[in-house]
Amino acid sequence: MSEFDLIANYFTRPVRRSPLGVGDDCALLAPAPGMQLAVSSDMLLEGRHFLSTVEPARLGHKALAVNLSDLAACGAKPLAFTLALALPSAEPPWLAGFSRGLFALAEAHGCELVGGDTTRGPLNICITVFGEVPAGAALLRSGARAGDDVWVSGTLGDARLALDAFRGQRSLPTALFELARARMEMPTPRVALGLALRGIASAAVDLSDGLLGDLGHVLQASGLGARIDADAAAACVAMAAHPDFAQAGLDAAALRACALAGGDDYELAFTAAPALREQVLKAGAQAGVAVHRIGSTEAQPGIRLVDAAGAPLEMALASFDHFGAA
Ligand code: ADP
Ligand code: MG
Repeated sequence: MSEFDLIANYFTRPVRRSPLGVGDDCALLAPAPGMQLAVSSDMLLEGRHFLSTVEPARLGHKALAVNLSDLAACGAKPLAFTLALALPSAEPPWLAGFSRGLFALAEAHGCELVGGDTTRGPLNICITVFGEVPAGAALLRSGARAGDDVWVSGTLGDARLALDAFRGQRSLPTALFELARARMEMPTPRVALGLALRGIASAAVDLSDGLLGDLGHVLQASGLGARIDADAAAACVAMAAHPDFAQAGLDAAALRACALAGGDDYELAFTAAPALREQVLKAGAQAGVAVHRIGSTEAQPGIRLVDAAGAPLEMALASFDHFGAA
């Protein structure tokens, strides 16, 4: 199969909303008048961001999902994406599965593949997404104010528990492993929530490297600190609500650690004024995802962890850093 057959067979779909898609030297995009383009890239490398055993359809989903998650964090509506792909060889079953997973998620979000690049090499997937947001309405990391509530969407920590299980560092009952594995391999980008939070959230970030680290970026950009209820975060671990959970052998400290520093969650963490609690809950309901209040911002820099009773917790937790110590 030639490079061009590969592109034509697996990565060319008619575009409806973009003026020009795959096949010319550039794609053409037309954001609506008064809108800003929101642009983000995320790269996935075998061994670093995914395991070689992952089903190709799930990999196609995840490669786009992590990018849509960045648009969600900005409150931007997905428009289009490009795909730069390095492949060791052109294997039709792999390409068919990968493109099926990719386009299923793309179509669900009305996000069109408009171009890319294809080369031979170690498996590496780089997607750039383009979204649109009314000028000045993007959710930024820098907008939080002292005294805002801190919220997270959905579930935290399960992807990390799956990774630990894959690495043989933890054993999980089958039902819990499958639940956690789906969270790790098929994250749900919170695009509808990001849109619903425009004008409500004061700041937002998506959770890729772990809650404390990613929330830390919001706090730093906003010149603030926060007090976070570690048990409210731990209550967001999906498997904690499963009937088989007792068999997982996870104590409160392990649950807190996964929720606070697990990574690969692709949920949103955001801040909003306490006066807007009802509106935040309504935005979550409208977007079909639970939102949980886990603390509040404070003028004093740093994150102070407390337990459910409000007692201070000392925990040494590092978020994921590709160039930090392992
Ligand atoms: P050029 O040489 O001008 O960079 P290419 O020969 O690399 O163009 O690609 C031909 C066309 O196919 C371009 O429109 C490019 O955007 C598109 N394309 C290449 N690889 C991919 C891919 N993996 N997914 C989608 N479109 C792709
Ligand atoms: Mg090229």
